Amino acid sequence: MEILTGKTEIVPTTSRWQQEIRSAFRDIESLFEYLEIDTDEVSGFVRPAHGRFGILVPRNFASRMEKGNPRDPLLLQVVSPNSAPQNGSGFHSDPVGDRAAEQEPGILQKYRGRVLLLLSGACAVHCRYCFRQHFGYPGTGSVIDQAVDVIRRDKTVSEIILSGGDPLMVADSSLADLFLRLAELPHVRRLRIHTRLPVVIPSRVTDALCQMILDSPLAVCVVVHINHAREIDTSVQTAIHRLKSAGATLLNQAVLLQGINDSYEDQFSLCEKLVDNGVIPYYLHLLDPVRGAESYPVSAADGISLIQQLRESLPGYAVPRLAKEEPGHASKTILA
Ligand SMILES: *Cc1c(COP(=O)(O)O)cnc(C)c1O
Ligand code: SF4
Repeated sequence: MEILTGKTEIVPTTSRWQQEIRSAFRDIESLFEYLEIDTDEVSGFVRPAHGRFGILVPRNFASRMEKGNPRDPLLLQVVSPNSAPQNGSGFHSDPVGDRAAEQEPGILQKYRGRVLLLLSGACAVHCRYCFRQHFGYPGTGSVIDQAVDVIRRDKTVSEIILSGGDPLMVADSSLADLFLRLAELPHVRRLRIHTRLPVVIPSRVTDALCQMILDSPLAVCVVVHINHAREIDTSVQTAIHRLKSAGATLLNQAVLLQGINDSYEDQFSLCEKLVDNGVIPYYLHLLDPVRGAESYPVSAADGISLIQQLRESLPGYAVPRLAKEEPGHASKTILA
């Protein structure tokens, strides 16, 4: 990241979270070596090509994985087992019809009143089940200019959702500019940020970000993405606490993933740990059948019975909605 000061001088600035992205693991071998997992185990996992959606795992996130365990639920989110056939039938590159819903590059409107901006194509972690893994994205700057124009004209929009990729990959200075521009649109009242950064690199919750949230006249909601209770360590608790202190509402969305969080015990402890930290479980998504995610699906029937079991043992607000995305529908489909 570089900023311009004055007219000619270019001063490279790298904040701690940006350094953490640079030092992230980018291949299975070095990750397994760090985790003290036998290198013979590597052959049991898909080796993605380097480049746009290669292996990417920040060290802070890897530090929460159990050493020596190739079945660790955090590890299995970032490397996918070889078990299922790749290019399996029913798995597509755009499973939720996002391309059809893209009005202008980077601007998605599927649901009334809400506009979703694909603010950044980049993420701090590459989740092997991600439904946007085959997408290309325009650059940030052009998205913001066009989006502000589109939203200014459409008075029915009351909520802006920053998504991506991960919108918090954008530098604080650009985010601050966007916050100000959105706050000038009188019909926009809420700002939602869909991000995994506070979980995988908690230092991303900078003082500057908290100040923006605090200063914004918009109601700010941060939707984090945590799939397993073990992802929440003290560094994540601190990040969550800082966002809440800045006045943000915190929600979680998770994806129901085979072998990672599909047991009652896994979901129970995730929900409890979320609400104990002031994060409301919002959605538990059924996996979108995206190419590359063939080893992760859990059936709708299993998901529904899981939710029913949770409802019998947790407060109502601690149980997420089991949701599925169906192209062309006016909302996500709630299965339980
Ligand atoms: C999921 C989604 C939303 C948000 O839906 P909510 O049910 O309000 O959380 C908005 N736009 C798009 C394109 C989405 O996929
Ligand atoms: S952080 Fe979100 S958008 Fe990025 S790879 Fe993971 S699931 Fe996909």
